[in-house]
Amino acid sequence: MEITFLGTGTSHGVPTIDCMINGYSTCPQGVCKLSVTDPRHQRTRSSIMVEWNQYTVLIDVSADFRQQALRENITKIDSVLITHGHADHVTGLPDIRSYTKDKPLTLYGSEETIAMIRKSYSYVFDSNTYIGGGIPHIETIAAEDSFELFGKTVVPVKVGHGTLRGCYGYRIGPLAYIPDMRTIDDENLRKIEGAEVLILNCLRRQREHSTHLILPQSMEFARRISPRQCYFIHMCHDIHYELDSKEFDSFMEFSYDGLKVVI
Ligand SMILES: [Zn+2]
Ligand SMILES: [Zn+2]
Repeated sequence: MEITFLGTGTSHGVPTIDCMINGYSTCPQGVCKLSVTDPRHQRTRSSIMVEWNQYTVLIDVSADFRQQALRENITKIDSVLITHGHADHVTGLPDIRSYTKDKPLTLYGSEETIAMIRKSYSYVFDSNTYIGGGIPHIETIAAEDSFELFGKTVVPVKVGHGTLRGCYGYRIGPLAYIPDMRTIDDENLRKIEGAEVLILNCLRRQREHSTHLILPQSMEFARRISPRQCYFIHMCHDIHYELDSKEFDSFMEFSYDGLKVVI
């Protein structure tokens, strides 16, 4: 199984527009400015591509999907899993149309997520839409329990993320992917136990956040799961790739756009 980190940033991306407006003077550790010369600090919106048995599966279609697809030379996509309906995770959907010309793409998500997507992109699902308008051909499948996909079992893992009722991460064999989480119950925690590779949200260094884990919480959570390797994602401009990894256990690291991991 090969994982490609398409994007590793929080909803603003890094560098952020807010920082640029202020001449980068408000950047906590100068990461936004640094990102211009150090690509590891440049973070497009979070999403991964997972490949196995010659199938290509995307988890989320981020707001930067077009840029990510061009950068990674993605020539085909066989299925899409969506974690939740927030803009940073679904706004690339119109651009996925290029991959749906031969056959419709199956898109999995919670009932809430599918409803949010169908509302946000109502023209895509409207049978009266003029096809020449270039719409993605998508078959949505609401899935909150385990299902089979290309020979592997996909386990949706329900997490607490603000007011959403259907925000999920995914466990696929040795991989657990949790991009947006603040809380998790024991039943769902058990679904990610034993994962070899954990990919986990880590919004910023300090100041608790109502809908995301922050660095000390992400590290504590990673220790509880104790995977072979843990990669942090969904990071804002607060996180400095080198300075903030000093306290890490040997199995932890910050991910960066374009990172590839083979399990
Ligand atoms: Zn997000
Ligand atoms: Zn979110």
